[in-house]
Amino acid sequence: MECCWTKDDVVCGAEAEVRYSLPLCDEHLNVFYRGRTYTIRQSAAIHGVEAFPGYCYVVLLPDETVKIGYSNTESTLQQRMKRLRRDTEKEGPGFEVLAVMAGGCALEAVLHYRFENSRIPGKGERFEFSDDILDFLATVPRLSLDL
Ligand SMILES: [Zn+2]
Repeated sequence: MECCWTKDDVVCGAEAEVRYSLPLCDEHLNVFYRGRTYTIRQSAAIHGVEAFPGYCYVVLLPDETVKIGYSNTESTLQQRMKRLRRDTEKEGPGFEVLAVMAGGCALEAVLHYRFENSRIPGKGERFEFSDDILDFLATVPRLSLDL
């Protein structure tokens, strides 16, 4: 499938996967996501991410990558963690919930943007377990939930 990103009537056309219902190459997936989350990141900067509903999580996966995602409620968060743990078990041990924070999809958008340079191409929401992420985790206020 070819990337549909079009600028000044020029279509990108690079090898693409369907993400957010659109065929986008990895570069344009980033550009698209940045645009799509711009408003919410601006709002989070003014109101603080704690003003937003839901939970944002950072988990370590068996391949030593980090996934940053969100869930709207505590019960969907629990289901998500259970499923992620189960789905990644076949890759080996090492699944670990590194942090759960207030702020839901707003914090997710902020963190995906902040750690953009650590994002692993073609891996969606997975990031390298970089020093930037370690530094962030060292100080971030966590919620204590039974997961
Ligand atoms: Zn493209």
